[in-house]
Amino acid sequence: MFDILPIPAFKDNYIWLLLRDGHAAVVDPGDPVPVIARLEELGLSLESILITHHHADHQGGISALLEHWEAEVFGPENESITGRTQALLGGEVITVLGQAVQVMAVPGHTLGHLAYAVPGALFCGDTLFGAGCGRLFEGSPAQMYDSLSKIAALPDETRVYCAHEYTEMNLRFALAVEPENQDLLVRVKRVAALRDADQPSVPSTLAEEKVTNPFLRSAEPVVIAKALELGAVDRSPVAVFAAIRQWRNGF
Ligand code: ZN
Ligand code: FE
Repeated sequence: MFDILPIPAFKDNYIWLLLRDGHAAVVDPGDPVPVIARLEELGLSLESILITHHHADHQGGISALLEHWEAEVFGPENESITGRTQALLGGEVITVLGQAVQVMAVPGHTLGHLAYAVPGALFCGDTLFGAGCGRLFEGSPAQMYDSLSKIAALPDETRVYCAHEYTEMNLRFALAVEPENQDLLVRVKRVAALRDADQPSVPSTLAEEKVTNPFLRSAEPVVIAKALELGAVDRSPVAVFAAIRQWRNGF
């Protein structure tokens, strides 16, 4: 397996750097500058670029990176991705730094959105966040609910490498949904300590997300009750998810 390091970018993005035997891959390099600096500092050559979706903060650095290295570029077939060499729909197994990587279709934030899974780690872009999930820019609540369910079916110990440091804000919202959730109160303290020490709050584990992330908890009575209060059409998981997601948009 490869090592995984965060490269902070912009205000709150993480570009994930994967390392193995002197070779490197990056996930969602929105900004080329910190990536080039880090790779030069470590004396590594860039072999692969993995893109989850087309937004500029995830793919804006591709062309500058390709000027430095001849890297392969994996990305969604149905989205416009700079320099893409491998178009993916989800369901494929690709090889990155000699490691088999499972490609998952996770539409919702965008329609072609992909996640990349290896044993123990998931790179999910703007689909699942620490204690939250991405906005539905292109997909429907049903699509995002299905995508999150697919992710939730991965092993509990899977670490969630999302693309943004949004956890603290998401936790404030999660507490509004479930003020009495003890796991949530524990997580709020843990994340506050990490952020105070200037440490990333991610990755989390899927186990932690399942007990604290309101968008993975559409079957919980407290979450259902909140959704109904917000005007959910019924208590089906998709309707509950849709109502909670809608509330988050204006939170
Ligand atoms: Zn995005
Ligand atoms: Fe983003």
